[in-house]
Amino acid sequence: MAFFDQYDEQLTAPERDLVARARTFCNAGFASALHASWLEGEPFGRHWIDEWAAAGMLGLQATAADGGHAASFLCKIRVAQEMALHGFAAAFCLNNLQGQVTRISRQGSDAQRERLLRPMLAGAILSAPAMSEPGGGSDVGALTTTATPVEGGWRMNGSKAWITNGTILDAVTLLARNAADGQLATFMVLLGSGDTVRREEILMPGARSFRLATLTFTDHFVPAWALLGQPGDALRAAMATVNAARVHVAAMAVASLHAALAEATRYCAARHAFGKPVIAHQGLQWELAEVSVRLEAANALVFRAAQLVDAGRPAVTLAAQCKKFAVDTAIWGIDQCLRAMGAVGAGAGHRLAMLSAEVRLAAFGDGTNEMLLDRIGRSLTKDYAGEAP
Ligand SMILES: Cc1cc2nc3c(=O)[nH]c(=O)nc-3n(C[C@H](O)[C@H](O)[C@H](O)COP(=O)(O)OP(=O)(O)OC[C@H]3O[C@@H](n4cnc5c(N)ncnc54)[C@H](O)[C@@H]3O)c2cc1C
Repeated sequence: MAFFDQYDEQLTAPERDLVARARTFCNAGFASALHASWLEGEPFGRHWIDEWAAAGMLGLQATAADGGHAASFLCKIRVAQEMALHGFAAAFCLNNLQGQVTRISRQGSDAQRERLLRPMLAGAILSAPAMSEPGGGSDVGALTTTATPVEGGWRMNGSKAWITNGTILDAVTLLARNAADGQLATFMVLLGSGDTVRREEILMPGARSFRLATLTFTDHFVPAWALLGQPGDALRAAMATVNAARVHVAAMAVASLHAALAEATRYCAARHAFGKPVIAHQGLQWELAEVSVRLEAANALVFRAAQLVDAGRPAVTLAAQCKKFAVDTAIWGIDQCLRAMGAVGAGAGHRLAMLSAEVRLAAFGDGTNEMLLDRIGRSLTKDYAGEAP
């Protein structure tokens, strides 16, 4: 059975077609463009987002009534994996945009869908979730950005940090505290081009394609129709998607590691030392074999967690375990693969150096290791103590 077959066997024929579409998109220039822009120290070209949108891929999970594909979670994962084989940051960023389209399609009000959905599907309004602040990302409930009720809407004040695609966004789903009653609420905020929103790029070595930025709001006006969901329910709604997000990040990490192992294995089979391929030397062979063991374990965990998410079953512990293990495994494993290739793998321009730099950042978003372990730890008794024998 090929590596991704267990997922693909669960997909419908139209979903398999979407995965094939993603593969074609990557092989028809996107994958090589990712590496080329990385070599220049630049993020991948914005026009690729337009092409991805034109291929209908931003509507992957939007409802069919809204012109989307209503794809399952497993399909979403597979599409992201096809891209993460070539670039982790690009897969993360395009999925992030697509997730916002899904949110407006499935949870937006009629007014929001009417105003925003068509341009979002077309890639003309790019959006991202904005929860983290310069003062801290893990403790979301402590955020300090305020939304002050005013005639016809709200005025936003505060800063959001590490916002994916932040340098090119047109909108954010902003989590802010209602200055009147202290409750958290989410707003679909159009950034506009005035001076009430200031952007500052956050430089991440080797990972410019995330296009991270800090966005600072100064008395930025947001109309009343921008309120997303029920006030007071915002933190719960934001956290409701975190399990799926964790499994999704884990799935992409697994794909990037799979690509690294494939590349290292091919290289080590072709490279000779002491009269035979270097992969035939047991010391090196066992190092890559160890990578394959942990890769398969991470993949099995991802698949199990993804099935729970797709079935709408509780996945809190497994999603946290899955993200922690898959991301740690990918960071360690890509480095092993890189070293197995000797000085060639360590070259600054090598594709594995790009994957390595990008996958490292997966350790922060959607829960740091400490937050994940904390989450797992709190459920230990419930999940594992069981009945005394
Ligand atoms: C590539 C990337 C993309 C991102 N995209 C977005 C985005 O689109 N939108 C958005 O809102 N945010 C985004 N983020 C921000 C991300 O969510 C935060 O980085 C993350 O929540 C951690 O917050 P922090 O970096 O402020 O760390 P902090 O919360 O300041 O934590 C610092 C350290 O303390 C540890 N720590 C904190 N609390 C505890 C505890 N209770 N017990 C033990 N240890 C603890 C953490 O694990 C960490 O090691 C992104 C980040 C990255 C790297």
